Amino acid sequence: MEENKGIELYLNKTLHEEQIKFPMLDFEINADGDYQYAVKYYEQPNKIGIILLDFIQNDLKDVSFSIFRFYGFNTLLTDNERKELLALDSHDNKKLANNLEKLYNKYKKDFESYKRQIIDILEYCIFNEDENLKDLTPLQRLVVFCNSNDIEKYSILKHNHFNKFLKLNKDMTKMSKKNIINTLKDKENNRYSFQEIYEIDNFYNLLFLEMYFILKEDIYLKKCKNCGKYFLTSNSAVIYCDNIFESNKTCREIGASKVFIKNLETDDAYNLYRKVYKKKQALAKSKGGSYEIKYNLFKNQGRDKKNAYKLKEITKEEFIKWLNKHTN
Ligand SMILES: [Zn+2]
Repeated sequence: MEENKGIELYLNKTLHEEQIKFPMLDFEINADGDYQYAVKYYEQPNKIGIILLDFIQNDLKDVSFSIFRFYGFNTLLTDNERKELLALDSHDNKKLANNLEKLYNKYKKDFESYKRQIIDILEYCIFNEDENLKDLTPLQRLVVFCNSNDIEKYSILKHNHFNKFLKLNKDMTKMSKKNIINTLKDKENNRYSFQEIYEIDNFYNLLFLEMYFILKEDIYLKKCKNCGKYFLTSNSAVIYCDNIFESNKTCREIGASKVFIKNLETDDAYNLYRKVYKKKQALAKSKGGSYEIKYNLFKNQGRDKKNAYKLKEITKEEFIKWLNKHTN
């Protein structure tokens, strides 16, 4: 078992990800060759803010079950609560469910309160249409919020203490010097570097930190124009979410088909899209194999890009640039 029992979080701005290393309830094989519960560490890349989004948007009871087993296991539960879970028979799912439900009943009130507080703050700082706040950034709005509300009611704001340290992330000792240099030069790959790590020893601090990332716009929290639900996106122009809405169509696809682009037939980006599409389709039919794979890939990614172009999430230049990269 490692010294630090908390969560380590690193913000990867290039990939719009948070990489989280956390202890969780898992299985291990004991001396008798049987499974038993144990605490294990995992490292996982997440979309920035996703834990907070789940917390405010989904059914708290469902969400709480994963909180107790994952991010909250070492950072929320008491020693006794952890011991009880670890001592359960790992084949008995019913007992686990009962135990998690018991925990939910204990933490329910706190969770409901934090959920309400977070939604209040996000609504004020991001979705509030007050004219006076118009030109302020979300984080500036938070300043107004903190100074014009009874802040004692917002205990989530007190979960703002973190240790920060620098860590050399991945071990590169097995790589050649040339390989190390090339890896570091690759802008897309900043997993290999010194990282500023937040050390989190309380689940509510994790929620606060994700809220802070959202308010300083490391990622955008939006309300879908079709279904009205919150969603996260790295592109501030996006207005529809990617959840399935009806008959296998996402809100974004529904949104894109509602958008009417005048003179689409004479649009050169759209014409290029159709040209590339037809070329790939013909190659897939006549040659099959890898051409078919490429065609299927383009069908999906291309439709996505076309929708993004229709919805003005990307510019004409960006769409054409992407198409030119995918002509073969
Ligand atoms: Zn939606």
